[in-house]
Amino acid sequence: MYKKFNLIISLLILTIIIFISYNAYDLGNKSREAKYDMLINDLNRDTIDFTSWISNKKEILDTAKDFVDNFSYDEITAGKTSNPYMNLNNDPDISQIYIGLATGEFITGGLWIPPEDYDPRNRVWYREAVESRNTIISDVYFDRATGDRMVTISSPLHIDGTFAGVISADVFMNDISNWLSNQITRNNIYTYMLDPDGTIIVHTLRPELVGENVYSSDRQDLPVIDNLKEFLEYFEEVRETSESVRMEYSVEGKKTLGIIRKIEEGNWYLAVAAVEDYDLCTFIKQNRNSLVFNILLLGIIILLLLLVIRIKLKLENKNKLLTLDNERDFLTGIYNRRYFDLYIDNICETAGGCSGISLVMMDIDFFKKYNDTYGHIRGDEVLRLVTNAVNHTIRKQDVFARYGGEEFVLVLEDVTEEIAQRIVEKVLKAVFDTGIEHSSSPFGRVTVSIGLAANTRRRIIDAHHFIQIADQALYKAKENGRNRVVVYSG
Ligand code: GH3
Ligand code: MG
Ligand code: MG
Repeated sequence: MYKKFNLIISLLILTIIIFISYNAYDLGNKSREAKYDMLINDLNRDTIDFTSWISNKKEILDTAKDFVDNFSYDEITAGKTSNPYMNLNNDPDISQIYIGLATGEFITGGLWIPPEDYDPRNRVWYREAVESRNTIISDVYFDRATGDRMVTISSPLHIDGTFAGVISADVFMNDISNWLSNQITRNNIYTYMLDPDGTIIVHTLRPELVGENVYSSDRQDLPVIDNLKEFLEYFEEVRETSESVRMEYSVEGKKTLGIIRKIEEGNWYLAVAAVEDYDLCTFIKQNRNSLVFNILLLGIIILLLLLVIRIKLKLENKNKLLTLDNERDFLTGIYNRRYFDLYIDNICETAGGCSGISLVMMDIDFFKKYNDTYGHIRGDEVLRLVTNAVNHTIRKQDVFARYGGEEFVLVLEDVTEEIAQRIVEKVLKAVFDTGIEHSSSPFGRVTVSIGLAANTRRRIIDAHHFIQIADQALYKAKENGRNRVVVYSG
């Protein structure tokens, strides 16, 4: 019955723990999903922003092409520098617009004068535009003179319907990163861009990382991704697909969630990442409803649990009373024979047998005569008075039981034979001092005889034998004149 109860409570507790863990996990997951949703939104917006920015630069180049188309070849190629036809640029992101002619000449709207041996036809921007027959965007490069990050947009140029060369614009990348970083103002969220080689070309949180390569950065002073291999796997993955890829990595011990995607306009990878902030306030704000629900449910469960425990305690008390009936003597209130038998068996069965204990048998003297003189009712009263006297003399832990009739038994644990003897002498005296009148006793009052068997030196291992020798000592006490203690001496 109790085992069942304990099992039910254990199961209940287990259920609650599972329930709470699951909920916490679920909440964590949900807020994580919410964070990814947020990152996807940011990434979409950044993608649109970036795409429209770069398209705008292409449009400027197209406008220049259209403009040039209105004039003759000779007119356009007249000025090598500060060419007025290419000087229509008022976009601060564009450094200069220039044309590499198919003849090998170079003309620019800016001030740059190429060295003697410069041939635009050997430049990458020229060759790639010719090859693709389309407007192309170069990889990001760093201007040797200024250190600025730049891209070149170039496009094949036809004048009067014939191929004339390649027209290009150099575009500063600085502004796009400022622009992207201004877009996201929330804490701990940032955007970065990688080129296909893994060079960081934009980083809104750590501009000092720009120019570093994720494959080969050896700068010790920069914040690093804790497990670079893990990050590179994501990078490899996104290069294989046109889908966005979810990332989860840690930077200097801080868990970071991110999304990365290839930008179709150029050959770049745009990522938005958020440092996971374990901010309790935000968490509570975000999950208020489910938290309230959880706490309520938890409260109900705890209440039910308390109820169950209360019922269990009540039942336990009832059971205690029941067992009390079983182990107590109804007349004197001390332990009964049944209890004593179980107790002594139990003690003698544990390791060491009955060692270290003393067994005391006690019997009221001339009790038959007392009953005959004063009647059974008064006799019962004497049993109670004697019991009281003994109870006040012994220690709380000593087991005192009615063995039967007017015979009692006392178990003293952890005492030497000498101390046991001193205790029973006190018991003898206590009964004598009670001074219950007994006219037909030679002592004139109620007395007891006591037999003591100590197992502190001897090795008695059998409860039955132990009782027997205590009884022998008691018999001796009777024989020797009653109202005395006899210690069994073997
Ligand atoms: P001794 O000094 O040798 O012990 O003599 P005694 O008369 O005490 O011993 P005996 O065994 O001859 O008598 C025991 C008496 O105890 C018999 C019985 O009437 C009485 N007795 C046993 N149980 C009870 C009880 O519960 N109430 C009362 N009033 N008397 C009891
Ligand atoms: Mg007796
Ligand atoms: Mg007797």
